[in-house]
Amino acid sequence: MDYILGNEKPGDCIFDLQPEKSCAKKELILFRNNDVVVLLNRYPYANGHLLVAPARHVGDLSDLQPKESAALMEHIRHSVNIVRKHLKPDGFNVGLNLGSVAGAGLADHLHFHIVPRWNGDHNFMTVISEISTIPQHIEQTFDMLLGDFQSLLENTVP
Ligand SMILES: [Zn+2]
Repeated sequence: MDYILGNEKPGDCIFDLQPEKSCAKKELILFRNNDVVVLLNRYPYANGHLLVAPARHVGDLSDLQPKESAALMEHIRHSVNIVRKHLKPDGFNVGLNLGSVAGAGLADHLHFHIVPRWNGDHNFMTVISEISTIPQHIEQTFDMLLGDFQSLLENTVP
């Protein structure tokens, strides 16, 4: 869990950009429906580091409606499956930082981190966490994952 603590960058709420679109490459939005938004993290700890958030701008678990809670867990599961299919990690860290004291740089908008892990990746992740952004890498990963995320829409749109 050390990897997902304390290194989020503050700024405008990245989860609320392009609210009318089901995906947006510039904003790294892989998926959005009425309940959930999935982004590639612009400041990744590993290739394929995703953020899964409620579509509504809420900061605490207690603010979630049951429908949103269920959709979040469903899309955490989908996200793990899609990253596993394409990037073949050995495992994942999945976690939630609640409040800025816990390391959430975007504390006002609840979000889960999904960080793929590979055996022996510790040194790699130390290096990558010191690089603010690796745009080319991120765009390639975005293109790789987008199709499977967009195909979820066919199953989840009411
Ligand atoms: Zn927000």
